[in-house]
Amino acid sequence: MLTEKGYIEEQTLNELIDTYENKIGPRNGAQVIAKAWVDPEFKKWLLKDATAAIASMDFEGRQGEHMVAVENTPDVHNMVVCTLCSCYPWPVLGLPPTWYKSAPYRSRVVIDPASVLAEFGVQLPEQTRISVWDSTAEVRYLVIPMRPENSDHLSANELQELVNRNSMIGTALATPVNGVST
Ligand code: FE
Repeated sequence: MLTEKGYIEEQTLNELIDTYENKIGPRNGAQVIAKAWVDPEFKKWLLKDATAAIASMDFEGRQGEHMVAVENTPDVHNMVVCTLCSCYPWPVLGLPPTWYKSAPYRSRVVIDPASVLAEFGVQLPEQTRISVWDSTAEVRYLVIPMRPENSDHLSANELQELVNRNSMIGTALATPVNGVST
């Protein structure tokens, strides 16, 4: 409709879509997480000022102006939602998945996060408490998942492959290292 009415050019629209589908996406976030896993100073910075730490890797722009990183530990598992609509950190995760925008996820994750997690196939240890972060038009959250066991020998590049999109929203854990029993 916008192109028909001449408000925007089709090429501009296509470039925008291509940017968010292919150039900007969860691979950016995965680079941030892998760097935090291998570089304690960077992780400190990320936890203190995520916007600046992420911008230092050239991931910045709309919907990423005020980033907050939250770290998963054996004691706490973080999950991100936008109860109001679908606010999401575009520069590091790209466009939100459909379920993130769905009413059931948005309402249920704040009421019963453990059962939502279970539906995503994640069972947390008894002692792990769940923190749910509600995004706003201002603040966007990035979950730092726990580094998988037996990944000490992996480089940052290899570690990136273990950082799946959902693990940065908190509806999954990082992908386990293949073929290594824990
Ligand atoms: Fe929103």
